[in-house]
Amino acid sequence: MHVPLVLTDFLDRAVELYGSKPAIIDDHQTLTYDQLNDRVNQLSRGLQDLGVEKGDKVAYLAPNTSEMLEGFYGVFQVGGVMTPLNTRLKPEDYKFILTHSESKVLFVDEELYSLVKSVLHEIPQLQEVIIHGNSFDGHLAYESWRSNYSSDDFDREPIEESDIASLLYTSGTTGNPKGVLLSHRSNYLHALSAMHHLRVSDQDTLLHVLPMFHVNGWGSPFYYTLNGATQVMLRKVDPELILQKVKDHQVSIMHMAPTVLNMLLEQYESNPISLPEKGRIVIAGSAPPPAFVRKVEEEMDWEFIQVYGMTEITPLITTSILRSMEQELPKEEQYLLKAKTGYEMVGSKVRVLDEFGKEVPRDGKSIGEIGTRSNNVMEGYYKNPEATNETIRDGWLYTGDMAIVDERGYIEIVDRKKDVIISGGENISSIEVEAALYDHPSILETAVIAVPHEKWGETPHAVVVEREGHSLTEEELTEYCRNKLAHFKVPKSFSFVEELPKTASGKIQKVQLRKEFWKHEDRMVK
Ligand code: ATP
Ligand code: MG
Repeated sequence: MHVPLVLTDFLDRAVELYGSKPAIIDDHQTLTYDQLNDRVNQLSRGLQDLGVEKGDKVAYLAPNTSEMLEGFYGVFQVGGVMTPLNTRLKPEDYKFILTHSESKVLFVDEELYSLVKSVLHEIPQLQEVIIHGNSFDGHLAYESWRSNYSSDDFDREPIEESDIASLLYTSGTTGNPKGVLLSHRSNYLHALSAMHHLRVSDQDTLLHVLPMFHVNGWGSPFYYTLNGATQVMLRKVDPELILQKVKDHQVSIMHMAPTVLNMLLEQYESNPISLPEKGRIVIAGSAPPPAFVRKVEEEMDWEFIQVYGMTEITPLITTSILRSMEQELPKEEQYLLKAKTGYEMVGSKVRVLDEFGKEVPRDGKSIGEIGTRSNNVMEGYYKNPEATNETIRDGWLYTGDMAIVDERGYIEIVDRKKDVIISGGENISSIEVEAALYDHPSILETAVIAVPHEKWGETPHAVVVEREGHSLTEEELTEYCRNKLAHFKVPKSFSFVEELPKTASGKIQKVQLRKEFWKHEDRMVK
């Protein structure tokens, strides 16, 4: 008998096994799995009343809140497609995504409503806007609207595993965001794989640091719900608040990008608090410098776990959790391995491929592009078959991430294809130069980019954020880098800034930094 792999199973299982256990802790309420389920059913009933049918897109613009999480399951139960929106966009971007996705209903958090308000009348197919919070402005207010419906009179829409569950837009780190269609099956199998590798259990309490609208955060409500874990919501990424919540709710696991970890480590170093034992920090989104691994494991005494993936693959496909044969290595070697992208997770085949689609040798120096085949792979970019065909070729999804593989089989991203600096015919990994700079005690944050150069074509340029009270010079940093890097990799110029441009998930947008140096559009987004 064939039973479809659909995401609604996860909440059903949690209700069956953990009904009275806390499911969600929000700023203003704690909900058990039974209570969450009632609210989800009311929401589904309300959506049906609004005419939402199978395949309809339902958009969410919200920080990490209980309302957003109940939206996941409420929308799936009626066969809808969840379309979460990045909270850091401009009104014009919302107009584009809401129109492009053909969203029928928009749920929006009161605090973010002003971001979309001005463009709502320009989106004709949008039938209803529902505000989480009390402001009304002609729209339905969520709590009073939802409570009109009974939790036990709604009809579940039968869903197939091949049905689309989500339409997620990429981070926009390298250009315009693209709409990615992911099926129930992809999300389901991804959840089982992530749950296994991250050892998620009913004893876990997750603090939702990564935004749920983003694919790395998006997947977690599946595998934490499935196992009856408790999920603590976080409205705002603030290091002091994060540590407070960790302490108050005895948080055992958090997912975040390295830039957020950097802020958190700063806060912890300046004001250490007693943390729950044996916590783990899951790092995703960009490459962490090895120094961060050491700090998490030695200073915080938590486990550092790295995962890698992208929106187009649901997202996670590799991890660098050490295997048994690496557990005995000296600590410093362990940290270097953990800072790598790692090896494939269950359910995904991951290889580093040369331009002919052949695997590069495992010699730690031959560079290729990471390709993957698995059930995680997207159904395609929404309304963009050209981009889909460029990305998925001969059964492989090409990630645009350039990497090497060592003799142990650990993959290491050397750079995004678009971020590699080509200087005098040599490829320079911006990540390698950044890792060297991160060891400098006065540097809080840095991004290395290609800038034009008459003789060499391009040279590396480092944009640096100094730690408070520190003051660096270009000469000092050049000297420092000369001792750590091959001559041609040393940045030829530096600039000092207060902060770096970032995506909402905390990734540094090098494309913004390059703008200043490149006149022509094609070189700028290189
Ligand atoms: P866009 O595609 O719109 O430019 P984006 O690629 O940043 O944005 P995402 O799908 O959110 O959008 O991010 C996936 C990318 O993030 C990967 O292709 C990779 O470059 C980077 N990434 C994710 N995890 C890691 C990691 N652990 N180490 C290094 N890079 C990572
Ligand atoms: Mg991408």
